[in-house]
Amino acid sequence: MSITAEALRELHRIHTQLGDLRERLARFPKQLLAREGAVKRFEEILVKAQADSKATRVAADQKQLSLKSGELKIADLQVKLNGCKTNREYQALKDQIAADEMANSVLADEIIEGLDKIEEMQKLVVEAQQHVTQAKEELVKTRLVVESQQASVQADVVRLEAELAAAEAKLPDDFRVAYQRVANVKGSDAMATVDGETCSGCNQHITPQRINELRLLRVVVCTSCGRLLYLPEDTRVGGK
Ligand SMILES: [Zn+2]
Repeated sequence: MSITAEALRELHRIHTQLGDLRERLARFPKQLLAREGAVKRFEEILVKAQADSKATRVAADQKQLSLKSGELKIADLQVKLNGCKTNREYQALKDQIAADEMANSVLADEIIEGLDKIEEMQKLVVEAQQHVTQAKEELVKTRLVVESQQASVQADVVRLEAELAAAEAKLPDDFRVAYQRVANVKGSDAMATVDGETCSGCNQHITPQRINELRLLRVVVCTSCGRLLYLPEDTRVGGK
């Protein structure tokens, strides 16, 4: 059986292009998944930021209420102070009022801190919302790109598959069986050019005798990687 380098080169080209296109087709769903994942992640961050913001607000509101009741309590104690009968009672109330005022002042400071924190939290919520919006926009863009490219890549695959079938039809019958066996398993890795004295597929040495066989249009398989070998374009082919 004999096979020309040109035929193998052509098959290799088609297989390589088909391989690239199929890889691109396989990447499209991954690209979409990555975008969808980003939207989901940012939405989770947003939900957490909103919950944190709400919790901070609730805590601040509770402190406001405590402060209000603390102030009412002091007002109440002041009234009692005026009606005091003994010095001891008077002093005890005075001390109580001083302690309550201290507690209220701590509470007031905490409320101011809480308000600052609420402001910070709101900024985080706004930021998270922006990230969600951006991620959704990216997803829409990627969907459009994928939809438009998918169709054209798919069309290229169909065209190349037809080219491949035509090129395979031209192969000698006895060679086609051996070729198909390797091509079905390895695709574009089914063939490799000889680069100097090495297989370009696995970089192993090819003996001069095997290179001679290639020149004689014999079928030569790399003993190390199993690829069908062919000579590069600029090699002078014996007998031609
Ligand atoms: Zn090899």
